[in-house]
Order: sequence, then structure tokens, then C-alpha cells
Amino acid sequence: MYLMIPNDARKLLERLYPSGAWTCQPEDLVAYGFDAAAAAPEHAPEAVGFPTTVDQVSASMRLANEYRFPVTPRGAGTGAVGASVPIHGGMALILTRMNRILEIDTNNLTALVEPGLVTGKFQEEVEKLGLFYPPDPASLHVSTLGGNVAMGSGGPRAVKYGVTRDYVLGMEVVLPDGSVINTGAKTIKSVVGYDLTRLMVGSEGTLGIATKIRLRLIPKPVALRTAVASFAQVSDAARAVAAIIGARIIPSVLELMDRGSVRAVEKLLKTGLPDASLLLIETDGSERQATEEMAMIETILRERGAEGVRTASTLEDRALLWKARRSMSQATSMLAPDKINEDVAVPRSRIPDLVARLEELSERSGVTILSFGHAGDGNMHVNILTDKSDPQRYTIAQEVVEEVFRITLELGGTLSGEHGIGLAKAKYIESEIGERGVEITRAIKKLFDPNNILNPGKIIPE
Ligand SMILES: Cc1cc2nc3c(=O)[nH]c(=O)nc-3n(C[C@H](O)[C@H](O)[C@H](O)COP(=O)(O)OP(=O)(O)OC[C@H]3O[C@@H](n4cnc5c(N)ncnc54)[C@H](O)[C@@H]3O)c2cc1C
Repeated sequence: MYLMIPNDARKLLERLYPSGAWTCQPEDLVAYGFDAAAAAPEHAPEAVGFPTTVDQVSASMRLANEYRFPVTPRGAGTGAVGASVPIHGGMALILTRMNRILEIDTNNLTALVEPGLVTGKFQEEVEKLGLFYPPDPASLHVSTLGGNVAMGSGGPRAVKYGVTRDYVLGMEVVLPDGSVINTGAKTIKSVVGYDLTRLMVGSEGTLGIATKIRLRLIPKPVALRTAVASFAQVSDAARAVAAIIGARIIPSVLELMDRGSVRAVEKLLKTGLPDASLLLIETDGSERQATEEMAMIETILRERGAEGVRTASTLEDRALLWKARRSMSQATSMLAPDKINEDVAVPRSRIPDLVARLEELSERSGVTILSFGHAGDGNMHVNILTDKSDPQRYTIAQEVVEEVFRITLELGGTLSGEHGIGLAKAKYIESEIGERGVEITRAIKKLFDPNNILNPGKIIPE
């Protein structure tokens, strides 16, 4: 049970946040009561604060702990599982005004940033210096690094370069009681004690609030090749993905889009993509490496039945392909009143099995399932079209979700490759991590947050 923010605490908070950085107006609050998850409930906070300093974050948590009201940290609110929805009310702490780059160390190839910095903006700044921060969630022009770290986000480049987790060296974190700790070090290696940095990454704002993040950078690849291959059958495209990885070629991007998703994006954007299932492929590195790898991939694509392989010859061509890919989520949402977007991942050799079983499930259930995503790393976005206002249709869609999870686990996969658990998937985590796994997760939460005031209700079923 949670108490409302008591008047005394409210007065103290009002003193902590200057005018314009604090609101309790219902018309403002409603904007912070949902994120991008269709399958998660909505709930507005009672108050919203926009801190600009670690001291404000720490003082807010001290008050929350003393007066026992919940606090939900939030970046841009693009999360796909309801992780930033203040389901128990209380205060939403919006970190978007803590958005500075504090340091880019070109000798050590590291950066120190505040959590509210938009990912794409950070990438632009480091690339001006010939450096590279690879994690590229499709939401990168809006989502924040703090949100990416809290969700352990990934993107198309994960196939070669890994995900956010692989680039976080350390953090400054405000704990639920308001104390501040520093995890990790500014070194590439550090094995002092338990790895608290890794524990924080992907903890969905339930253990602490990141107020500074130290990131690892790498040199920017000099060359890039982009191609799109079309297939009559999605199963052939999926087999081509497994064949490329099986041939030990790791492109920097290997994205699959089924015909239904391609049609949806064409309806929206009219970019001239072929009416087929597609693979979007990039190779990078030196000029020679990028060219040679793409040539080897083209050979495999043709052997595996590609009807056409088109290379992007200009930057505009490439930008258009990416616009189509990044609009896929929005385009597929427009095909039905509601869409449940799952992001299961399987070992890469099982991608053909996953795709085949999803097709069979769609036929059997009569529910439209559109799939696209990061097939190169085994992570597919499975989009189940539905209508929440039609109870029968929505119930069937939820049964389909459960079946998708069952298939995924049978194939040796995981319920979420990058979107996380939040509210939407909390009830399913035991099926993957087991009863003991849930017990340990609960115990860790209790250790960090004995009064359960920081982002309660997420990850662990209540
Ligand atoms: C169109 C679209 C495309 C997407 N594509 C991808 C994709 O390719 N890959 C992918 O992984 N995700 C994707 N997502 C999901 C989403 O963008 C990511 O989860 C992203 O990292 C969320 O960042 P945010 O700033 O919006 O965080 P929010 O949604 O505001 O918050 C997400 C979580 O982070 C916590 N949080 C935020 N800031 C902090 C902080 N400083 N300290 C502690 N906790 C914090 C919140 O409490 C919440 O639990 C997509 C979403 C959309 C709408």
C-alpha cells in the first residue's frame, strides 16, 4: 500500500524545485502516465519534478523514503513495457533536463554524460571527433541515455557491436534512501567486488537513479556499405540470416522485415521498397573489409534465393532505407486499433524456426502477426494486431502472446531481447527465470529499496 504525497512533503518538494521545474496540474500530469506500451496500464503521477542536479534527486529520494511515497524516474517516456508508468502514483522524476555531456576523453576513449541526454545527440557529438557510440535503438532521436541504460537497450548494430550494457563503464547512482554511490571505474577493466554497474543496467529504474553515466567509445569505422535483399518467402529470408552468421560473417546490421511490415511502411511512406520480405544489411570497417564482407554476403543471399539485392549507392538512398526501417513500428501500429509488440530473442540459428512457427500461429489463431527486427542478433519484434475495445479479440491476442513466449522458450530463447519487463511482462518472468530466480530478484530489490518506493510494481509480479 502506498501513501499519497503528504502535504508536509509536498511543501518541501515545492521548495526544492524552482518554478517551472515542478507541477501538480492535472493537465500536465496526464502526459507522464503512459509510455509507448499498448499492453501496459496507464496511471498519472500526483506530482512531477524536473531535477537539474544530483542534490535535487537525492533530496527527493530522502523525502520519499521518509514520507513513504513512490517515485518513478523517467527519461523520454518511449519505453515499450510501461516501465516508466507511475502505477502507484506519487512523484515522477523527469531526468531530461540533466542532459549535459560532461566530458569526452579522446585519449582514453570514454565519455561522461548526464542521463537525460538524447542518444542520437550524443552519437553526433562523438562522431564529430571520429569516435563511435554504437548502441542505436530505433528511438535514438528521442530516447535518453539514462532510459537506454535502465532498460539495457539495443538496436540494429547489436549484431556486431553489442548493446548499451557493453558500453557502460560506471555510474553515479542515487539510491532509494537518497545516498549516492559510484559504480565501476574509468578503466576498461575493473573487477573490484560485485559488478554493481551491470546490476544497475537493465534494472528499469527500480534499484537506483543514474545521475551520471560513464561510457566507453570506439573509433568510428571509416567505410560503410548498405544493401537490401528481397525474398518471396520470409522463411527464405530467415534462412539467409542463419546462413550468413553460420558462414562466420558478422555484418554491422542484419535486419529482417516480413512482407506485411514492408507493406505497412510503404502505405505510410511510399519509399519504393519491393513488395517482398526484406533483409537490410550493412557492413563496415576499413574500405576493404566493408566491401569484401558485403560481396561474400551477396553471394550467400543469392544462393539462398534472394530475388534481388540492391545496394544503396548514395547517402540519400541509405537514409531512405533507414527511414523505412525506423518507421516500421509506427507503420504497423496504424493497421489496427491496438498492437502488442513483443521483442523475443532466440539463438540465431533458430530464427528460421521462430519465423515458421509464428506464421503457423498466425494462421491457426486468425490473428495478424507481423514480424520485423534485429534477426542478426536473434531478436525479433513480433507485432500482434488487435483491438482492446473488442474483449473477445483482445483475449485471443493475449493467448497468442503467451503462445509466442512458449515457442520462444522452447527454442532456447528469452522473453525480451531489449524492451525489458516493466509492467507488461512482469507476470511472465517466472516462466523464464524460475521461482528461485524471482525470489533472488525480490531479495535484491528489498536490499536496495526496503520500503519499495522506487518505481514499485515493475519487473517483479506484485
Ligand atoms: C518507435 C520506438 C522504437 C523503439 N526502438 C527500440 C529499439 O530499437 N531498441 C530498444 O532497446 N528499445 C526500443 N524502444 C524502446 C525505448 O525507446 C527504450 O526502452 C529506451 O531506452 C527508453 O528510453 P527513454 O528515455 O524513453 O526511457 P523511459 O521510457 O522514460 O524510461 C524507461 C525506464 O528507464 C527508467 N529510467 C529512465 N531514466 C532513468 C535514470 N536516469 N535512472 C534510472 N532509471 C531511469 C524509467 O524508470 C523506466 O523504467 C523503442 C520505442 C519506440 C517508441
